[in-house]
Amino acid sequence: MIKFNVPPVVGGELNYIEQAVKSQKICGDGEFTKKCNKWIEEKADVTKALLTTSCTHSLEMAAILLDIKEGDEVILPSYTFVSTANAFVLRGAKLKFVDIRPDTMNINEKLIEEAITDKTKAIVPVHYAGVGCEMDEIMAIADAHNLRVVEDAAQGVNAFYKGKMLGSIGDMGCYSFHETKNYSMGEGGATLFRDDTFVENAEIIREKGTDRSKFFRGQVDKYSWVEMGSSYLPSELNAAYLYAQLEKADEINDNRLATWATYFQELKPLQEQGLIELPYVPDECKHNAHMFYVKLKDMAQRTEFINHLKDNGVSCVFHYVPLHSSSAGKRFGEFSGKDVYTTRESERLARLPMYYSMTEDDIAKTIDTIKKFF
Ligand SMILES: *Cc1c(COP(=O)(O)O)cnc(C)c1O
Repeated sequence: MIKFNVPPVVGGELNYIEQAVKSQKICGDGEFTKKCNKWIEEKADVTKALLTTSCTHSLEMAAILLDIKEGDEVILPSYTFVSTANAFVLRGAKLKFVDIRPDTMNINEKLIEEAITDKTKAIVPVHYAGVGCEMDEIMAIADAHNLRVVEDAAQGVNAFYKGKMLGSIGDMGCYSFHETKNYSMGEGGATLFRDDTFVENAEIIREKGTDRSKFFRGQVDKYSWVEMGSSYLPSELNAAYLYAQLEKADEINDNRLATWATYFQELKPLQEQGLIELPYVPDECKHNAHMFYVKLKDMAQRTEFINHLKDNGVSCVFHYVPLHSSSAGKRFGEFSGKDVYTTRESERLARLPMYYSMTEDDIAKTIDTIKKFF
């Protein structure tokens, strides 16, 4: 069976984990964590990046930093992972789901303004498949209405919008280094800060509400409890694993992009015959081959398609069930305007196997199996 995902391993991971063990410093914020933070800061050109225990936790941190309270509203797509929504629900916010664009599956920037009320506090764009949302327009809307923007860039590491790395454009950006993402540490993430507005508070919230970070830098002579907080620091063992991958980021990225390009090239004739639709990447976006999906006619054909691939030894899976159609989604939010594309497009999308170092044979077999279906 060709797997849907295989976590990336580039070879240097065990060596760095051994170094972390020998350094006798395996809790958070050691040398490897600092190296990962610095790599992200340089690559994304942000003031600060802080490694966290997950993208879920980065989003939770962002919601605390924005002081989201009971009764506040947050705008997001319904076609996303539960964590995008949970982070704000945990603080008492009401969700306003906005329809997606059928071409990129990202939030439709043209529909955001009509979802804004005097209770709206933030917009949370999700960069699906590592293809950037229309950020210029989203940032302009946020500026005009005095709203904050938190990018769910879980899938967007090493992907760009108009030359800016995803996650570096809004007030805060959230990355995931889960094993299903392009770069991994098992479970983990990062929060990015475009400027220093939220950095000091972020360091406090991430360190159990204490000013321990300042203490270690010698800025205060003892550390104490100064704010509410939690523990969002990953272990050095995980950071060591991740750093080995960040050092090889271009190799991982080039390899994934090559697989993506082969899929696209080989499946293009099916698109030209009107049998499937392939991903669309706007000119201003440089994607990272996080995902390769095809769109079938409808849900019934998708089920047949997925079963056909599975029967022939190729894993193939669908993706998000729109949050507004779930029981929790109904309780915590509502759809703004009409659901024209969210349900329809999500029901016909199927994801193909895609991971670092997928073999040419497996790629060819996947393509061949798809061609046989049609
Ligand atoms: C993977 C993912 C998350 C959650 O990431 P974790 O690191 O597993 O918490 C959140 N949002 C999106 C869009 C994701 O793809």
